Amino acid sequence: MTKPKILILGAGYGGIITSKRLEKLLKDGEADVTLINKHDYHYITTQLHKIGVGTAADRQFAISIPDLIDSTKTRFIKGAVSSVDIHNQLVHLEGGDTIEYDYLVTALGFEVETFGIPGSKENAFAIRSFRSSKAIYHHITKQLNLYKEDQDPSRLTFVVAGGGFTGIEMLGELAEGLPKLCSQHNIPFEKVKIVAVEAAESVIPFFPKQSIKYTTETLDKFDVELITSKKILECTPEKILLETNLEIPARTIIWSCGVKANSIVEKFGLPLEKGKIPIDSYLRVKNMTNVFSVGDCSLFMKDEKSSLPPTAQVALQQAPVCAQNIVSTIRGNELKVFEYHHKGTVASIGNFAAVGLVSRFRLSGLFGAFMKQVIEARYLFNLGGPALILKQHFRINREPVKITVKQ
Ligand SMILES: Cc1cc2nc3c(=O)[nH]c(=O)nc-3n(C[C@H](O)[C@H](O)[C@H](O)COP(=O)(O)OP(=O)(O)OC[C@H]3O[C@@H](n4cnc5c(N)ncnc54)[C@H](O)[C@@H]3O)c2cc1C
Repeated sequence: MTKPKILILGAGYGGIITSKRLEKLLKDGEADVTLINKHDYHYITTQLHKIGVGTAADRQFAISIPDLIDSTKTRFIKGAVSSVDIHNQLVHLEGGDTIEYDYLVTALGFEVETFGIPGSKENAFAIRSFRSSKAIYHHITKQLNLYKEDQDPSRLTFVVAGGGFTGIEMLGELAEGLPKLCSQHNIPFEKVKIVAVEAAESVIPFFPKQSIKYTTETLDKFDVELITSKKILECTPEKILLETNLEIPARTIIWSCGVKANSIVEKFGLPLEKGKIPIDSYLRVKNMTNVFSVGDCSLFMKDEKSSLPPTAQVALQQAPVCAQNIVSTIRGNELKVFEYHHKGTVASIGNFAAVGLVSRFRLSGLFGAFMKQVIEARYLFNLGGPALILKQHFRINREPVKITVKQ
């Protein structure tokens, strides 16, 4: 009998944990597992703001995929998925390769939502991937160098569009990282302006008032200029235009106004809702028994009206259930219903402050920042045990990450 072929697309949070769980659950020779990802490294998306400002070494947040998987159990292919032929059970890669599957997991993540705002796609920088975050860092250093030539203040104005969790994490990082970058470039940090733009009345508007107050005060201490209740109308290479004729001359606009599913899923011939792949309570694509989907590219309804948010927490809880349900399907066993347990949310504002909610408890300050570190360390522990935590945190591997694939 031929072995079933399991194919996992994407080695982000959802994909890598699904493959690692399959390594544990499958018996020797029970199935062939293949993991495909654009790059040969898995990046810690929740820390990309640090890559954007250069406050962390590349190797801390980009980990070699071959080092994470057991090559005797999982075959890794570095390649970019271009489309899926659901009827013939084939995945096409850029460059022409085709891979067959019996069971498919789509875990291709997210891309930024620009809401069609003119110029945002072309002129604003996205915190989307390791590569796009590295592009922010290179752009910032380029602006610092150019400022020395033309003294144009717009080169020292850094705008973060969107004051949600990702936005405040980016603002905190800029506030902590730019002084060092300025001193490396012999530019007085006093000349730098960091601006936050948010359409709602406050940053993190979905949080309790005390958390909003703490965040606003912390950003104020960092001298971040906060502009709220203003919608962005346009981004150009030199400025950002806001409602009521407000213009901010700025050559760096970092976009964090929301995310949507990776639009590649539109090429899969699967039914989509709100641009995402709708999945049932077993994490299978609706009306299919051999196609599963996890993480940000999927739509899981928690009740009739609302879906689970696009977070690492959701992807990480879905992945083990997805792996288990694939194995159960192969063995003809009963499938497990996915139940989401919200464990809380914490956002850092630089290294020494954070804000969040864990259960009913509000977190802030140094303790919040400590908890954020604990959450990240726990993920690394699950991924590669204590050895990986030591390696990543003490930067044992200093080899630079090779970025070769355009994203
Ligand atoms: C700055 C930032 C901070 C965040 N902080 C938090 C937080 O504190 N807590 C939290 O829960 N969530 C947080 N999130 C959200 C979280 O990172 C995402 O929800 C999570 O990454 C989703 O996981 P995923 O597996 O669905 O997708 P991803 O992690 O995006 O993985 C998708 C993978 O697919 C690969 N891929 C994409 N296209 C292709 C293709 N065509 N072919 C092959 N491979 C492809 C990508 O390279 C990537 O490896 C944060 C996000 C950002 C940007």
